[in-house]
Amino acid sequence: MRILRATSLTLGFARRFTTHTRPNLLLTNPERLLALLTNPRMPVQLILAGKANPSDVAGQELIRRWIHFIRQTPARQHVVFLSDYDMLLAEHMVKGVDVWLNSPQRPWEASGYGGMKVLVNGGINLSELNGWWAEAYTSDVGWALDESSDGSDILETDDVDANGLYDILENEVIPEFYNRNEHLVPTTWVGRMRKSMARLTPHFSSNRTVREYTRQVYLSAASAYLARTAGSGAIGVRMADYQAVLAESWPLIKFGNVSVSTQGSSQTFDVQIFLHGLDPSLVKLELYAEGVMGSEPVQIELKPVRQTDRRSGASIYSASISSSRGSTDYTARMLPRFEGMSLPLEEPLILWQR
Ligand SMILES: *Cc1c(COP(=O)(O)O)cnc(C)c1O
Repeated sequence: MRILRATSLTLGFARRFTTHTRPNLLLTNPERLLALLTNPRMPVQLILAGKANPSDVAGQELIRRWIHFIRQTPARQHVVFLSDYDMLLAEHMVKGVDVWLNSPQRPWEASGYGGMKVLVNGGINLSELNGWWAEAYTSDVGWALDESSDGSDILETDDVDANGLYDILENEVIPEFYNRNEHLVPTTWVGRMRKSMARLTPHFSSNRTVREYTRQVYLSAASAYLARTAGSGAIGVRMADYQAVLAESWPLIKFGNVSVSTQGSSQTFDVQIFLHGLDPSLVKLELYAEGVMGSEPVQIELKPVRQTDRRSGASIYSASISSSRGSTDYTARMLPRFEGMSLPLEEPLILWQR
């Protein structure tokens, strides 16, 4: 028996078989799927792969249902299930498929990077707008399963999504693949493939990821590590000393009076604080206000202006800001300050004005 033809449109689906990846979405309406696969003028074939976790009974059942579907003629000439999905098998698949299908249930997809692997091989993605595809998709580089939805995380029913998937395949993907010029080249398809490769591969690749992680995280972590281990861990010793000082003085530190005076469109906060002998350069005082309508919170550093009482150690810190927001929106707070320390990660102290 002949299975698979080099000239047929080839769809690939390879993912973990589990409920949220919905590997069986295409099976929702088996008659409709069969009609798409076996259209004699525009035949389609499907290559499936994926494992289910040994403890995921529902996932195993999804594989069984595909096997059952494939066993019936005429599906068996158009669908294959490849067992033992691994990186080598994935390598063959991403080289060979025309379209990479991904139909997870929104919003459960974290990334779904399988689709990125077909890009450089000229495969085109047809996916739910979730995970990476929500960032990468434009209508000229591939297809989106739920383009008509507003992108919010609504759990659509499988039926709605399955019909959307059949519709896109029937009305867009399959006709575009078989729309050939006089040299039998599917020019629109090739144009989409070129755009997908040119536009998406620079951004959605492990080269870019590793380069970005290296620049933003690994290199600074490596130099911080070198700095900390230098001189038998001199910085580490200073940090430990600093933390011991904080542990001792922090519980004694208290906010005193906070007064606000308004002149025209500006308001001045004078914040009294009792540092109990703690070196002021070791802490940072600021005014904090929640962001408005989803904007970032406001943090304004307070500067020391004078020491009011040498004996008690009460100091005045001050900041002048616009009076566009009421003074009660702001709360003074004190945080540790130590060059080279990851804060608040390494020292999560914070003291709020009462
Ligand atoms: C790429 C790949 C995955 C991950 O693909 P997703 O689309 O993120 O699920 C899993 N297993 C193998 C063997 C792969 O090659």
